Amino acid sequence: MGRLNKKKSALSISLDEVGESGYHLSCSKSEEWIRDIVRDAANSDFTFLDGITIQVDVFRMGKEFSARGVISTALTLPCVRCLDDFAYPLEAQFHYTLCPSASVESLPEMEVRRGDLDVVYYNKGTDLDLVPLLVEQIFVTIPTYPLCGETCKGICQQCGENLNNRSCQCSRENEKISAFEALKNFPLKQKS
Ligand SMILES: [Zn+2]
Ligand SMILES: [Zn+2]
Repeated sequence: MGRLNKKKSALSISLDEVGESGYHLSCSKSEEWIRDIVRDAANSDFTFLDGITIQVDVFRMGKEFSARGVISTALTLPCVRCLDDFAYPLEAQFHYTLCPSASVESLPEMEVRRGDLDVVYYNKGTDLDLVPLLVEQIFVTIPTYPLCGETCKGICQQCGENLNNRSCQCSRENEKISAFEALKNFPLKQKS
């Protein structure tokens, strides 16, 4: 029943109050706030550098609602090539269609279906909890293979040096070896 307790990080929209002209929500939340809502979402290897700004427009479409919005924040991600953390500005645009849940008895749980259209089921009389939607948007926007830059040189496989900071001697050694290998292979190729 813990899910029914209002957390201090709650952010919700009362759908009953969405009128003909729609409902606009625009707010900024602190770094602590966003850290708090994402903390239990996954054992993530990123940290937030900034708070989050949230803008959502909700419109009524018969029994359904349309929720369009944009979030922006900044975080640090570990580069997959050089393993160093780098700053990543995150901006995500989203569009959810909110459909009334078939069963009124069910818990006010969110069920999110990915596809062309993101659908969220809501129970009549309950507020739309924006927190799970924001968490989802953050995770789908973070790149699977984050790179600190297109030109990242990565780390040396032999000595572990970050080649963006300093070049090591290993590559020169490798050049000597590969030149030697090339010479060694040259007569063999001639024979075949
Ligand atoms: Zn890198
Ligand atoms: Zn090296």
